[in-house]
Amino acid sequence: MQIYADNAATTRMSPEAVAAMLPYLEENFGNPSSLYAAGQRAREALEAAREKVARCIGADPRGIVFTSGGSEADNQALLSAAALGQKAGKRHIVSDAIEHHAVLHTLKKLEKDGFEVTLLPVHENGVVRPAELEAALRDDTCLVSIMYANNEIGTIQPIREIGGICRRRGVPFHTDAVQAVGHLPIDVRADGVTMLSASAHKFHGPKGVGFLYAAPGTPLVNLIEGGAQERGKRAGTENVPGVVAMSVALEQAVGRLPAHAALAALRDRLIAGLAEIPHAALNGDAEKRLPSNVNFCFEGIEGESLLLMLDDLGICASSGSACTSGSLDPSHVLLAIGRVHDVAHGSLRLTLGDDATEQQVDYIVQAVRQVVAQLRSFSPVWRDLTAGKTPFIL
Ligand SMILES: *Cc1c(COP(=O)(O)O)cnc(C)c1O
Repeated sequence: MQIYADNAATTRMSPEAVAAMLPYLEENFGNPSSLYAAGQRAREALEAAREKVARCIGADPRGIVFTSGGSEADNQALLSAAALGQKAGKRHIVSDAIEHHAVLHTLKKLEKDGFEVTLLPVHENGVVRPAELEAALRDDTCLVSIMYANNEIGTIQPIREIGGICRRRGVPFHTDAVQAVGHLPIDVRADGVTMLSASAHKFHGPKGVGFLYAAPGTPLVNLIEGGAQERGKRAGTENVPGVVAMSVALEQAVGRLPAHAALAALRDRLIAGLAEIPHAALNGDAEKRLPSNVNFCFEGIEGESLLLMLDDLGICASSGSACTSGSLDPSHVLLAIGRVHDVAHGSLRLTLGDDATEQQVDYIVQAVRQVVAQLRSFSPVWRDLTAGKTPFIL
């Protein structure tokens, strides 16, 4: 059996999105800035895609800036709010400990430039507490940036509550919604969001394209200087095929949201199956989590070996995030929810696709059970644990 259970890392493109991009690679290859008809056809496709994308998140199309993906959108959002804050003498930013590195590394850069960053804790369940966020706000706070849903443990943050607080306190609010757009119903106005980042390849669109939403009147800085594309906010000839495909993929994903939400039943079946493995624990809140996300720690094993052995059994999964695997540092997200280094190393993330079945879930449970037992049977760490030389944590 072949099972792709790593949809938080990237998704397979929908056939409709692939089909939608082809004409813009072939006959309609014109540059949207060209004045002749072929260029204007590309321009129309670009603007139609902008309207489609905006509609999917309840936004004004004028607020959509197409980018190369989620990382670029995150960078542009944070640097824009910082530039605005700087002008007003405000240099304090509130975020949280489990953000994606596209946010955390940009915050580090801003700290070097003299900004002060408060990273809120997310507690054992991986969720920010709105009261703590409100208490962290200061007169010089120029930005709150809290992700919609976490890419590793799938926890969903209380975005609407946070949006309400920020609106009341007059603080711009950015959310990295890369794991949420196309996975949860989103309405930027009801959510009180000033800026939002999204990426097509996380909702069955192509890689290398995404968007930043910025509420009308929000000043943005350019990360890329050049031509006047995207209302002067993002230079460079537009990725017309990518943008068109993204809009089709997003519209489909939003249309499928009820079916996607129903994935939670399979997720819970998977969680229940894995929870039967001794000395294992679910990471992140059991309810406030994406319908597709399962993340476990197994004591006494290495996540890396687990992944390789699951791959041999036809299962694609991940440990930590794709960006950090390959490094020996345990995931900052697992550390933030209180997992100690050794336990955090034995983590497994499974993110189901809409086509997942009970049969696949049961196969995964049986495969993980078998591989965990096998790895433990030759683990010196496990030997010490079972001999009582070191205490079990989970
Ligand atoms: C994937 C991801 C990103 C980065 O998006 P890219 O399009 O790959 O640059 C940012 N934030 C989160 C939460 C993600 O899951």
